[in-house]
Amino acid sequence: MKIDKNIMSYCKNCNKHTANTVRNYNKKPQRGLSLGTRRHNRAIKGYVGSIEPKIHPKKLGRKQKVMLECQECHKISERVFGMRTKKKIEISR
Ligand SMILES: [Zn+2]
Repeated sequence: MKIDKNIMSYCKNCNKHTANTVRNYNKKPQRGLSLGTRRHNRAIKGYVGSIEPKIHPKKLGRKQKVMLECQECHKISERVFGMRTKKKIEISR
């Protein structure tokens, strides 16, 4: 999958279509004190009753996410491309 480095896209802040620069999405490390992490740790410790291991089917590939930066207001938003693929996004320069 190939995307241009500069694309036109809707910006929520400007409320119109603007020119956007495309960047790769990098996953940030988990926050240790967020509510979800604390709740999960409590469940593992055994204060919330028994937790049965759920068996999830393995999914093939993942959805590709890119970050868009508006060139007018410099706000960053994300866009997900809907299909699950093993191919990675290439940003043309
Ligand atoms: Zn904008």
